[in-house]
Amino acid sequence: MNRLDVSTECPSCGGLLDFKEGSNAVQCRYCGSNLLVTGRKQVLSYYVEPKADGHLAAASVLTARKSGRAGECRITGVRLYFIPYYRLSGHDLRWERATEDPGTEDSTPPALARNSAHADAVGMDVRHRSLLLPLAGGLLDMFFGESASSGTALPGAPSAGMLKEIESVLRARGDSPGNLFSGEAQLAERYLEKNFLACSLSGGGIYSLGVRTSALALRLFHEETLSVQGRIVAADVSIEAALARGMKAELPESLLYRAVIGRILSLVYFPFWVVELEYGGKRSLSLVDAVARAVVTSDLPLSLYEVLDRTTAEAQHRRAGFRALVCPNCGGDLPVKPDDVVFVCAFCVRAWQIYGGDLREVPYRFAVVRASAREGEAVPYLPFWVLHTERGDGPRRFFLPAFRYRRLKTLSDIATALTRTQPEYSVSENTDSAVRSDISYGCYYDQEDAALLALFVREGMKMKQRAGVVEEKEEISFSAAELVWFPFSIKGPDLVDPFTGRALLKNALL
Ligand SMILES: [Zn+2]
Ligand SMILES: [Zn+2]
Repeated sequence: MNRLDVSTECPSCGGLLDFKEGSNAVQCRYCGSNLLVTGRKQVLSYYVEPKADGHLAAASVLTARKSGRAGECRITGVRLYFIPYYRLSGHDLRWERATEDPGTEDSTPPALARNSAHADAVGMDVRHRSLLLPLAGGLLDMFFGESASSGTALPGAPSAGMLKEIESVLRARGDSPGNLFSGEAQLAERYLEKNFLACSLSGGGIYSLGVRTSALALRLFHEETLSVQGRIVAADVSIEAALARGMKAELPESLLYRAVIGRILSLVYFPFWVVELEYGGKRSLSLVDAVARAVVTSDLPLSLYEVLDRTTAEAQHRRAGFRALVCPNCGGDLPVKPDDVVFVCAFCVRAWQIYGGDLREVPYRFAVVRASAREGEAVPYLPFWVLHTERGDGPRRFFLPAFRYRRLKTLSDIATALTRTQPEYSVSENTDSAVRSDISYGCYYDQEDAALLALFVREGMKMKQRAGVVEEKEEISFSAAELVWFPFSIKGPDLVDPFTGRALLKNALL
């Protein structure tokens, strides 16, 4: 997935502070401050700084004009507008009815497919239940015992630096032993990334407006800064509508179930120059991308001004914020792990989960299971969310990886295998400092992502049982989410799960 860079100033020293979109922690490279990035799971607002000034924009329009039509034309006005876009990204998991040649559909791993970029959106089915789930944050609130949702966007976003070598190993070995669902349903995964207008400009003759965000640096939205430079166009598409729009696309016939994990919805204000010109007594408007300096569209009616200038009840903007990344209990420094959602204090051993703008304590335990490692080699512990359900039928506990792995399919497979097995184990209260020091793999997914994955896994298990028949709406609720670290055995390049013997390629853990 293409994670954009966010650029701002360090709240401690004022130095340039850069981090990847979706990061939960950052260290200032100038003053060394460790900072918690707040606003996770919320729809955060950003803007992109214009690179071209009004003169350059006008010159671009005149140049484009000359190569097109002959004749005198003159510029009669130039104005800068910040036009809002929604940007939705996530990791899309789908059960699809197996095709005649299973394997071709999903043969391109996400890391290799990601260059195909924006058009990666996939289908959303009305049968499909992921939209019936609370819009992000809601499930998390439930686990934290909150009644109201504090935000809407789901978090996450995979890493950079995907190594080709690891991909080829994963592909060569088919990633995990056996396809659990061959012949019935198969799992497809891909990254979802969509950018689309957050306002309607159809009254001004614009129905869609492409924006290339891939190489852009985002800045935290700041109304005063923007309104000095230009006009901020009101975002009048609601978050709910944006999510529906972002999740929607052509619906593949073969789609059985879909879950989008690690969803982030952001609002990005992109700068455009509106250049007004007169030609043969007629006035029209051209739109110039103020970053690339390219004329995006021309011959627009003057009514575009009204559309751009209209005021609507403006959405409340939320911005990422910063706080000292310290343990709320003892004040000790927490480790700067940008992708983690849980920070374990090395001093008082409490664990803290980022929740909106807060750190909340999250209990955790270690499973006591025999795991083998070579002498002198520490046993690696990997975190799982154990979700409990009170339903009479079906599994009572779901085991969902909280760690990140190069392929989500593998995590789904291991979750399925463990959930089928319903392993029994005793737990320890993490008092052994040797064990605690082995927490080298952090939690990338939170309880909400785990719940989405649990529903996905459950769907797959039902399909297996009923040969592809998807049951109609069946509610499931989770009564508790426990964070448990499981010891894995080391076998060559693999980490082997203690209950089902499934192997994870160590180098594919992110
Ligand atoms: Zn600093
Ligand atoms: Zn502490």
